[in-house]
Amino acid sequence: MTSTDPTPSRVLVLNSGSSSVKYQLLDMADSARLAVGLVERIGEETSRLVHTPLTGGDKRELTGPIADHAAALKAVSEELAKDGLGLDSPELAAIGHRVVHGGLKFSAPTVITEEVMAEIERLVPVAPLHNPANITGIRTAQSLRPDLPQVAVFDTAFHTTMPEHAARYAIDVETADAHRIRRYGFHGTSHAYVSRETAKLLGKDPSEVNVIVLHLGNGASASAVRGGVCVDTSMGLTPLEGLVMGTRSGDLDPAVIFHLERVAGMSTDEIDTLLNKKSGLVGLCGDNDMREIRRRIDEGDQRAALAFDIYIHRLKKYIGAYYAVLGKVDAVAFTAGVGENAAPVREAAVLGLEELGLAVDGELNAVRSDAPRLISPEYARVAVAVVPTDEELEIATQTYALVRSGA
Ligand code: AMP
Repeated sequence: MTSTDPTPSRVLVLNSGSSSVKYQLLDMADSARLAVGLVERIGEETSRLVHTPLTGGDKRELTGPIADHAAALKAVSEELAKDGLGLDSPELAAIGHRVVHGGLKFSAPTVITEEVMAEIERLVPVAPLHNPANITGIRTAQSLRPDLPQVAVFDTAFHTTMPEHAARYAIDVETADAHRIRRYGFHGTSHAYVSRETAKLLGKDPSEVNVIVLHLGNGASASAVRGGVCVDTSMGLTPLEGLVMGTRSGDLDPAVIFHLERVAGMSTDEIDTLLNKKSGLVGLCGDNDMREIRRRIDEGDQRAALAFDIYIHRLKKYIGAYYAVLGKVDAVAFTAGVGENAAPVREAAVLGLEELGLAVDGELNAVRSDAPRLISPEYARVAVAVVPTDEELEIATQTYALVRSGA
């Protein structure tokens, strides 16, 4: 496609949280990013918009009250317009929305209709924090450009291929079905993108490789991907299950919750906050930033060292579990903030797994780069890779493909 091609090729990606909106504008003719930004503390006096044009010009920062999502998006539109990238442009092909919970119904990106909105709404009880914010973001964008296709890209979609034996909890079936209780998994856009990019790195088609993807950010999840298809993932009904995360506990005996209620006298909301916001690395040692934890370990801090060991132990258990689920593994891919940057985490996670064909080359592991790369020695049977994730590009790609297909 050339610049004279009349087909609109820009996609705005919106990731709406309860008090924030992250956005990126991409030109899908060449997958180039045109602008990125963030509005935070929406609804407060100290709202902040940080806008970075990538077509020239400096980063801009606006502070002051931004009342709601509508005002936030209007401010974003004004910033984009200053760079000649206004949202009223005929070059805008679609708006792609990250939607956290798509339940079982949405296994692919979907053009948003009123029916789709009703279903996202119906899923609020299983995603009480995320889906309402996503709905607000969509409504706001619709009011700004009612003529434009709006596409929902679901965090859960990639995991809808999980077989029933991986997706069901071993609880009473009627109760589970009545309340839609099952394992849905999250970070799906990242797991999809990274598993595909890993296959590319190996010079193979995704259908030919089995990959364990370790998405280690502040939230963290693992997935087992067989031939491009997700067969298991570590997050469940909500993002609380699985790995030790920045502030979430991950797996624990459910009886801990009864104990906290009956013995510690905590309310359901207090326990929710404890497990989602005050647990994981921050609960174990007071820090959730892996850089800070490594710095403390280097200074001999025992609490930080124990937190790191618990984090790695859980990670190793999932690598082993997904190795067994897949039977044969071609690659283990590390991604997201910790996975892409923390060499000690990658080294520790595969340490002692040589019998499984897993090893890390110290020199390759120490290289800092934004490019997908192998960090395993040549002799290793299983490739260990660092594959930077790009959820916005994946959302834009899926959105654009859907719009172009005329679906
Ligand atoms: P994410 O949620 O993917 O943005 O990841 C955020 C997390 O990545 C932070 O909380 C840090 O723990 C971790 N992180 C980011 N940069 C680095 C780094 N250079 N070294 C180690 N950990 C990092």
